[in-house]
Amino acid sequence: MIENYTAGIVPDYQMSAMCMAIYFRDMTIRETYDLTMATVDSGERLDLSSLSGVKADKHSTGGVGDKTSLVLCPMLAACGVKLAKMSGRGLGHTGGTLDKLESFAGFSCELSGADFLRCVEDNGFVIAGQTAALCPADKKLYALRDVTATVASRPLITASILSKKLAAGADVIVLDVKVGSGSFMETEEEAAALAKLMVDVGRMAGKKVVAVVTDMEEPLGRAVGNALEVREAISALNGEEDSLGDLMELCYTIGGLILTESGLADGERGRKMLREAISSGRALAALERFVAACGGDSAAVRNPERLPAAPVRHAVAAPAAGYVTAIDALGVGLVSMHLGGGRATKESEIDLAVGVALCKKTGEPVAAGETLAVIHAPNEASARRAEQELLRCYTIGPEKPERKPFIRAIVK
Ligand code: URA
Repeated sequence: MIENYTAGIVPDYQMSAMCMAIYFRDMTIRETYDLTMATVDSGERLDLSSLSGVKADKHSTGGVGDKTSLVLCPMLAACGVKLAKMSGRGLGHTGGTLDKLESFAGFSCELSGADFLRCVEDNGFVIAGQTAALCPADKKLYALRDVTATVASRPLITASILSKKLAAGADVIVLDVKVGSGSFMETEEEAAALAKLMVDVGRMAGKKVVAVVTDMEEPLGRAVGNALEVREAISALNGEEDSLGDLMELCYTIGGLILTESGLADGERGRKMLREAISSGRALAALERFVAACGGDSAAVRNPERLPAAPVRHAVAAPAAGYVTAIDALGVGLVSMHLGGGRATKESEIDLAVGVALCKKTGEPVAAGETLAVIHAPNEASARRAEQELLRCYTIGPEKPERKPFIRAIVK
């Protein structure tokens, strides 16, 4: 079915019916595995066998403010792990790592096969665009699911994500399944079930796969918007971790799991290695080398003022005193998109400089009139519109809210 769909023999209307049947009737693990492997076999596989050492990969199901790869890949590279990562572009309220990287002037994510492998061998990691040769069936099927409202199906998501990870050749894969308003799994149960299915199918395919279920009720970190997120990732790699609680917790958790599964270091020893990767400056240097290898302005890694900056910065004042009890992740993603930082359609041009810097996050106290967030906008009028939208994303209450743990589950 997948082979003939890729070849154009099975038409879209029949495949739509199939997707709808899977959406409503679900699939067994074995069927999900077969669908995954057929999708892998629809194209080429990356051959990483020429690379020395352990090859790892991570994937997030998407969210708002998620710049984890920009921090984690250099950290792990500095610990001796090799990462050959295929990433995507943002669509709608979610950002894409490739767009963020293009904040470095001159950066190109289109590396030839040989340059791609050389970049991993020399720098420890690469983040590049998905080549058309990998999983062509998924490209076609994902577009069809998008227009037939069949994206949110566990077996279809599993086959789509895992096929691309399996074709990309890593031995160790850690999946970050988001739960909450900024993700497409609304409940913890749904997210945990998706995580379990992906782990089971990945293991059937002979890989070491672990998944984490993490919070996406509020944006990750404090920056939302392409260049703003790159700046935040650079701060994290500079060891300025104090205000970056959730982002660093995620990087240390996923990084620790990758080091454990790779057989390099367990538990606290792994965390220590990751911390040293930052404190020694080796992780920041790895990012710098990678940006240079992709033709980007690597001087911006040490001088972030070289990154795109918006002409208008507009502080949003808290309308009342109390505690921040919630920040709607989806809403903040949409504020950034409406400022020009995200794509309404695949063809939209984006403004790399705009976005939102969150000065207050959930659980933090705030005085009336204190700055909640700073909007980075192309002009005053859009800054004022964004302010109204952003105020609707914040909830302020009299009591400090009870918080669920940020890492909801680790699924092995
Ligand atoms: N991301 C993918 O690549 N595929 C899905 O089905 C969902 C998210």
